[in-house]
Amino acid sequence: MHVNPSIVLARLQRVVRERLRPRLYEPLADVSVSAWRVDGDGEPVPSAHALGLDVPADREKPSYVPFAVGDTWGPAWGTTWLRIEGRVPDSALPVELVLDLGWFDHSVGGHCEGLVYRPDGMPVKALHPRNGWVRLTGPGAAPDVLAVDGSFTLYVEAAANPLLLGLPPFVETTLGEKPGPDEPEPYRLVAAQLCAFSPDVFALLRDLEATGDLLPHLDAGEPRYWRVLDAVEAALDATNVLDARAALADVLARPAHATAHRMTAVGHAHIDSAWLWPLRETRRKVARTLTNVLALMDTDPTWVYAMSSAQQFAWVEADHPELFERVRARVVEGRIVPVGGMWVESDAVMPAGESLVRQISYGQRYFAETFGHESEVVWLPDSFGYSGAWPQLARRAGYRWFLTQKLSWNDTTVFPHHTFAWEGIDGTRILTHFPPSDTYAAEVTAAELKHAVTNFRDKTRSDHSLLLFGYGDGGGGPNREMLARTHRFRDLEGAPRVELRAPEKFFADVEAELGDQTPVWAGELYLELHRGTLTSQIAMKQGNRRAEAMLRTVEYLATAAAVRDGVAYPYDELDEAWRTVLLHQFHDILPGSSISWVHREARDTYARLDARLRSLVPGAGAPGRLVGWTVVRAEPAVAPDIDGVLDNGLLRAVIGPDGHVRTLTELRTGRELVIEGGQLGELQLFRDEPVRWDAWDLDRHVLRSPVELTGPVTAEATGDAIVVTRRHGDSTFTTTYAMRPDAPRLDVTVEVDWQEREHLLKLSLPVAVHTMRARYETQYGSIERPTHENTLADEAQYEVCSHRWVHVAEPGLGVGVVNDSTYGCDVRRVPGGTDIRPTLLRAPRFPDPDTDRGRHTFRFAVLAGDETDTRAAADDLNAPQLAALADVEPLMTLDVESGAAVIDWMKLADDRSGDVIARVHETRGGRATARPNLGFDATVTETDLLERPLPPDYDLPVALRAGRLILGPYQIATLRLTPPPSKEC
Ligand SMILES: [Zn+2]
Repeated sequence: MHVNPSIVLARLQRVVRERLRPRLYEPLADVSVSAWRVDGDGEPVPSAHALGLDVPADREKPSYVPFAVGDTWGPAWGTTWLRIEGRVPDSALPVELVLDLGWFDHSVGGHCEGLVYRPDGMPVKALHPRNGWVRLTGPGAAPDVLAVDGSFTLYVEAAANPLLLGLPPFVETTLGEKPGPDEPEPYRLVAAQLCAFSPDVFALLRDLEATGDLLPHLDAGEPRYWRVLDAVEAALDATNVLDARAALADVLARPAHATAHRMTAVGHAHIDSAWLWPLRETRRKVARTLTNVLALMDTDPTWVYAMSSAQQFAWVEADHPELFERVRARVVEGRIVPVGGMWVESDAVMPAGESLVRQISYGQRYFAETFGHESEVVWLPDSFGYSGAWPQLARRAGYRWFLTQKLSWNDTTVFPHHTFAWEGIDGTRILTHFPPSDTYAAEVTAAELKHAVTNFRDKTRSDHSLLLFGYGDGGGGPNREMLARTHRFRDLEGAPRVELRAPEKFFADVEAELGDQTPVWAGELYLELHRGTLTSQIAMKQGNRRAEAMLRTVEYLATAAAVRDGVAYPYDELDEAWRTVLLHQFHDILPGSSISWVHREARDTYARLDARLRSLVPGAGAPGRLVGWTVVRAEPAVAPDIDGVLDNGLLRAVIGPDGHVRTLTELRTGRELVIEGGQLGELQLFRDEPVRWDAWDLDRHVLRSPVELTGPVTAEATGDAIVVTRRHGDSTFTTTYAMRPDAPRLDVTVEVDWQEREHLLKLSLPVAVHTMRARYETQYGSIERPTHENTLADEAQYEVCSHRWVHVAEPGLGVGVVNDSTYGCDVRRVPGGTDIRPTLLRAPRFPDPDTDRGRHTFRFAVLAGDETDTRAAADDLNAPQLAALADVEPLMTLDVESGAAVIDWMKLADDRSGDVIARVHETRGGRATARPNLGFDATVTETDLLERPLPPDYDLPVALRAGRLILGPYQIATLRLTPPPSKEC
């Protein structure tokens, strides 16, 4: 027989499209539809309201009016409730209600969705583009829907979430907020009918996917290729579905090769906690997805669903208690596996160290209290890079493993491993895996499996990888098609072995498999992409930084008040504040990649939070700032002695008429800090038109496209400062230079009225320091990065994250630059020294066309000194300005005997025992010894990061030995200070 493979494959595609898929459903009967558009502000209402079970006194009873297939519904962001009534006719086949709310053929999870309820309020199934059915009879039928005569009433809560990331992508849109009244309704009800579902056609389609779709990935030099080709052609020749399936049975029964790759397939839905929709919509997305997961679990007992983010479980618990109880039962069974143990899947670069600790402590505490379960795997598939603090944080919190895959998105270099030991800045290692399918939302296609096997870079030593399957966001998670394919790929010649099981089982296997042969990657996991997220929506960065600083201060003062004066510690208020901060560290909120709606609400939330935290500051007294646990009072500043010169006896700055610092001289040594001919303090504007992912990406070409600031400049000495104002277009930039009397430090405050679109603003600080490396603060330490572009990987780090400071040094001179609220930064070699350039603002137009328009204030300082001086200046610049603050005797200090160590945080223990927790760490990457010096009577023990006693088999360095702290490089120690039992009984 002559066979032409390409013709067979083309025929297969056409037969599937035109002859098989249309036969999956046979229409049986119409249904009657009526609709209620939620009135008022159009915001969602509880199902009890829409179903007429419990209508609030101040709201109208829902009134359903006739609605027909073909009618439009909306408006964008509105909710329409559909009431669907019908009677199921007799049928030998299972009957399904099939609904098409107006699906696009693409962007699953990115547009309209629905949740189907019984009249009693129980959600039974969610509706999505590739999941638009509710089974009414036959195996897996939704329970308690049909009356004895076959009649039924169901309700659909249809959400008109607009398509924002469509084809082509990244198109500017105003639909990141609710539209005006003239905007057309975005969706049309395309289908609503009762159909007979053909299990045989469904099965044949999956058989053909496991054979015909596998064929292009088989080796044409091997018999298997030709046997599969022959079987597919025989199936296409068959005259009925059963014969077609029989023709494929033999090739589907052939087992996988002995050395076939082993893939652990885990059901999953990556649900962004806010992104192209507001937070309130995520609550509904999670409920819809879990409803589908439960329905699919009822019909297929073989699979496991992994779900991260305590916050998302907590939303379902609050909104749908009855659904949540069903979820809890599946967790107990081990079929829904809570993973990650964090409050949300946060940004993994920008949050402060204590924030990451709290992401874990709040998340794991919720998991433990709610499910009696803690996760052993950090689950961050989608965050935009991972700081080198993570391995230590994760291992000291009790995790064994780490999962991501985001580095597959790198735009420059290819990460060399999928399974490796990741070594953090302190030397701690954690077994880490990147699913080689390069996605966290696989559909279990032959092409994905083949890509994963080919792509997997650790095949020499490992046979295992993970596959996370299921539509994310609003896509409803795994569907029955995906599951049916996993069954066919379980043990199939030419494919990897696909096994449905929990991710922990995979990690345990691979840990045993690799043992001490695990390859090691040291340092941060830098994502060579999305570099603009360190800057976009700067109010998120400022809100986060200031909330962290306020929490640090409030928790310390409240601890002192509790210990010294027995003042009640505001546990509940602080918990609520922390959960707000943690939620907003989600990897599309803090990075600034969400729609206008999300960021508008977040700005309001940060403002309310700041006021709330200020109200929690105990006591009142002299005005001041809390720095390093001592109160600093307002100091007199240094007045300019002549126009353009600031001099405090330690440092002398000469500012030119263009407003740039021409010289900055350390008077003790006579050393000049500014590059000869340099312009320290120059604001640099660049044209910023990204290739794609506008709010996310800062492309290379941007830094090659400077825009000259041509507007008028004024510079004047006012009081104790020199103020420089310049205009450019509609934007205004005001730079204020000032000095204090006590330090070789120049303060640079930049106020911007930002009216640009698609431009980037940097502050250039060129310093006369010759160095190959710069040091950037990160969580509990710092990281060195090159200032050169020698290799592809060096060059790719052309914009990086800096926490509060950057430091560069050559023998005889160190210069630090500290900031109060920026994260994006580049430090590069230039003739005569090094240019340190924090990034202040961007103005991408997608997804928020008005990103960052308005007024912003940034504070920086440039100082001569070492890393310790720089860190102290960062503490000072970031200390909250509080109107009223009492003097506080330190609760604890460190008598440092050698090296460098600090107390980073103090608080009362999470268990509400009244014990004090102190988080201490080494700061320089060396060794330190110190003696804790307590300001109150207590015994000191060391705990893990979650304040639990160290287990007997603890395999990480212990700091507390015989009352002294012995710290290794960047080592973190959590100390529990237990006061003696109260004498009153
Ligand atoms: Zn995400």
